[in-house]
Amino acid sequence: MAVTLLVTAPVVVLATAPDRVGSNPWERVSLVTSLAAASLLLVAFVLPSRLRAITTYLGVERVLRSHRLLALVAAALVVIHVASVLGHAGPGVLDLRTAPPRVWAATVATLALLAMVPLAMTRRKRRPRYEGWRLLHVALGNLVLFGTALHVFWLHDLTSYRWGAAWFAGLLVGLLLLTAYRWMWRPWRSHQTAYVVDEVRVESASAVTVAVHADGHAGVDFRPGQFAWLKLGESAFVFEEHPFTIASAATRPWRKEFTVKALGDFSEILAGLRPGRRVHLDGPHGAFTLDGLRSDGFVFVAGGVGITPMLSMLRTMADRGDRRPVLLVVAGRTADDLLHRADHEHLGQRLDLRLVEVLEEPPEEWDGEVGWLTRDVLASALPGRRGRAHLDYFVCGPGPMVAAATRILEDDWGVPDRRIHTELFDVV
Ligand SMILES: Cc1cc2nc3c(=O)[nH]c(=O)nc-3n(C[C@H](O)[C@H](O)[C@H](O)COP(=O)(O)OP(=O)(O)OC[C@H]3O[C@@H](n4cnc5c(N)ncnc54)[C@H](O)[C@@H]3O)c2cc1C
Repeated sequence: MAVTLLVTAPVVVLATAPDRVGSNPWERVSLVTSLAAASLLLVAFVLPSRLRAITTYLGVERVLRSHRLLALVAAALVVIHVASVLGHAGPGVLDLRTAPPRVWAATVATLALLAMVPLAMTRRKRRPRYEGWRLLHVALGNLVLFGTALHVFWLHDLTSYRWGAAWFAGLLVGLLLLTAYRWMWRPWRSHQTAYVVDEVRVESASAVTVAVHADGHAGVDFRPGQFAWLKLGESAFVFEEHPFTIASAATRPWRKEFTVKALGDFSEILAGLRPGRRVHLDGPHGAFTLDGLRSDGFVFVAGGVGITPMLSMLRTMADRGDRRPVLLVVAGRTADDLLHRADHEHLGQRLDLRLVEVLEEPPEEWDGEVGWLTRDVLASALPGRRGRAHLDYFVCGPGPMVAAATRILEDDWGVPDRRIHTELFDVV
């Protein structure tokens, strides 16, 4: 809806000034594609800006998927725009030796945008170090927007009549406010995001739980299953931050726990944190939560450390006295991947909880399921077809496991899309 409005608004605005739109078809195509591309770029920029209203409504997966899609469509529109400009102005327009500043600005913005496409693909295929990749991505993204704004301003086409100028000024002010809010206002109010490490507990050979308490404030409320970006340091003006699900109960917002699996440098540093160390939390974010759902019961499917959002939901249900039935299916490679088993037992006494564990390489004495999380394993654990229709399904874990479980639920059992909730930890 917002996207449609933003893309169509400038076209409608142009229709109010038909004398500005030349009769040359190339010119018209170039104008419409440029306006649509600029609007899409703006939405693509706003989406990952951590506005809680957006992240809690769409969830991190949909935010990033839409961000990528909109940026790709915008890049395609920019290519059509450049082709149509060449169509009506001729190739000489791109001669940078004689080109005016508006062409320079457009060239820089276009090249930065086109560079972002292979950069995004490298991220998914080669997995370079995230921080360096993110810095380059953010820098190029800002260059695209800045170059585009200068191009429109110097072109003096859209801005030379009242409605066009108002639209451009509105977007510019919105953008500046958003940037200031994201990078200055929120870190500046860091006294509301500060927490202090209480303890670090070892959960397995490769996972720890970091418990923190709110420092100088009551603790920010969250919904069970949501996550926060964690930063280390006295101040919140720190570039490196990583997302972790809050594994503790939402009923106790002043104390938050994160169970972290060591995957790289940051998660290893967390394992070595000392009590008393100051951290900052940017959150809560995410739509992976049972709050607001009116289902008869839940099925939680977790792979490895994907247990963390389920744990928060179970702990919160127990504290709230919620007795709706829950089936918890936990899958892993070895027994080391089954985190918080003691908590499951303890929670089982306070909840209507059934636990199914699946291991690819089980220990000698094992009475759970063996192998992968397959259709048969899920079928044996779930209630009959009629009972399944009124449940909500939460799946969290490695990408292939989430994809397999979602396929089984959707294709084999016809569970409607709106009842399946997924969270991927390697989403970027
Ligand atoms: C919504 C969400 C919730 C998560 N919850 C948990 C949790 O409860 N427990 C847990 O152990 N892990 C969780 N993760 C994964 C966790 O964020 C990464 O494992 C961690 O950031 C790895 O950083 P690293 O430096 O240790 O490893 P690296 O080797 O640097 O990164 C390994 C992978 O982690 C991802 N990653 C790294 N840095 C970031 C970043 N700043 N932002 C986003 N993704 C990044 C990338 O996919 C990267 O390829 C969650 C991820 C997301 C998106």
